[in-house]
Amino acid sequence: MEENKELEEKKSGNFIELEIDKDLASGRFDHVKTRFPPEPNGYLHIGHAKSILLNYGLSQKYQGSFNLRFDDTNPTKEKEEFVEAIRRDVEWLGADYHNEIYFASNYFQQMYEAAITLIKKGKAYVCELSADEIREYRGTLTEAGKESPYRNRSIEENLKLFDDMKNGKVEDGKMVLRAKIDMAAANINMRDPIIYRVAHMTHHNTGDKWCIYPMYDFAHPLEDAFEGITHSICTLEFEDHRPLYDWVVENVGFEQPPRQIEFAKLYLTNVVTGKRYIKKLVDDGIVDGWDDPRLVTISALRRRGFTPESIKMFVELCGVSKANSSVDYAMLEYCIREDLKLKKARMMAVLDPVKLIIDNYPEDQVEWLDAENNRENPELGSRKIPFTKELYIEREDFMIDPPKKYFRLFPGNEVRLMNAYFVKCVDYKTDETGKVTEIHATYDPATKSGSDFNERKVKGTIHWVSANQSKKVTVRLYENIVDEEKGKLNEDGSLNLNPNSLCVLENCYVEPELAKAKPYDSFQFLRKGFFCVDAKDSSPEHPVFNRIVSMKSSFKLNK
Ligand code: ATP
Ligand code: MG
Repeated sequence: MEENKELEEKKSGNFIELEIDKDLASGRFDHVKTRFPPEPNGYLHIGHAKSILLNYGLSQKYQGSFNLRFDDTNPTKEKEEFVEAIRRDVEWLGADYHNEIYFASNYFQQMYEAAITLIKKGKAYVCELSADEIREYRGTLTEAGKESPYRNRSIEENLKLFDDMKNGKVEDGKMVLRAKIDMAAANINMRDPIIYRVAHMTHHNTGDKWCIYPMYDFAHPLEDAFEGITHSICTLEFEDHRPLYDWVVENVGFEQPPRQIEFAKLYLTNVVTGKRYIKKLVDDGIVDGWDDPRLVTISALRRRGFTPESIKMFVELCGVSKANSSVDYAMLEYCIREDLKLKKARMMAVLDPVKLIIDNYPEDQVEWLDAENNRENPELGSRKIPFTKELYIEREDFMIDPPKKYFRLFPGNEVRLMNAYFVKCVDYKTDETGKVTEIHATYDPATKSGSDFNERKVKGTIHWVSANQSKKVTVRLYENIVDEEKGKLNEDGSLNLNPNSLCVLENCYVEPELAKAKPYDSFQFLRKGFFCVDAKDSSPEHPVFNRIVSMKSSFKLNK
């Protein structure tokens, strides 16, 4: 109840909604249209998920619309592979873009015309200073910039030179088109920023049609304006660029220019979100691709077994803020546990097996016992599990010489085998190193699970699987990929990787029912956590389960 209240509070009105409310009340806009504008140069991560859900959520809340637009104005980096991956991720998160995608590069002609408009208004000029000179002339935070000697060319000359730039008559770097704003502006972004550059490069969409390309700060506001976006939501680092955004849409002459609103990026502890770092982990072979379950790309979270609902819940709990901060990874784990708790069957799997032999149980008998799938959600029904003379239990559930308060199996002690019988340990065997190789017990037929036996109680309940009726599988356990305690980065700027981030267990046994599981299916393994069938490496012959999250939580919602 408490938890829901907190969620509700977070949901009702973040500061962006308050701004939108004002805009609707003042008549600045009579509808809401948002967009998500990824650059197709990598896979989306949890931070992008926040942006997607925020933008899409606003369009839903105000019964407006939402565009998915690829910001592909930069001809060097974009790749088709990323376009497809991004579409899949946006769809998976449930942000409906009506199967219609927009490409910034489709506006190159209109952007070019917008540049011409500025030149004709005397608001843009062709500059021939070198890149170094432009930097030098720009000035500093404390010193005004100097005007370019090319600043006062005639409109005719500017039109002619811009035409030369466009027609391939100018080498890369020799000329740029700059907005004519104010070299003394306190905001350096307003000191005659470059809006077009010459680049003789092939673009993935427009091929060799263009050899001039617009700069981001010029292109982005235009893309928004062309699509009739009302609220252009972006992250904090663009705050200082907002005056330029406004200048562009105003001076190009849009009647109802879009409004930029900034919010703080989502950062998570113990994980890597920057594209640059993720790419390096992929390129260096430290992870097995952009969807390695230790990453927090959306495809990795999906492969790990996270659900869109859990990510939505997480993003809502994080809220929208104007101040940068890091969110504890444990909060994301809390959300997936909450989401799966009632949805998933609770099965038995033994990850570190040791044999338990029931001495008084018939040799070849297989007894199919009833097991409820989820005690807290009867709708999930029940299943049958095979009980046999030889079982596997977790090695940690037996001790030869237990400390006080150890209620699991030890010589002479009786425990409940979950969904089955009480068993009492009568003997055990060890190898020459003292390692336990098998445990012997006797069972009491009267204690069968579901019967009304109440003559005595036991303090411990342990899980098990049949030794010859179970399926052998691989299980992967994960820890965070970076070690935040010691600092995310080493002194040389490289990532401080956690050497234990992946632990592969090859000798695990699961209920036979689980052999039928398909990629992305997920389950609770009783006492061990939530697990998901790996979509890349699992096969019916050899299933591979990834641990999504353990059962233990270090996160408190009301902290
Ligand atoms: P990164 O630097 O992590 O690779 P990016 O900003 O270069 O991200 P884009 O494709 O340009 O990636 O981003 C698309 C949208 O997602 C932008 O509107 C951007 O502001 C938003 N975004 C990116 N990272 C985050 C984040 N950590 N939290 C919230 N929104 C983000
Ligand atoms: Mg970017």
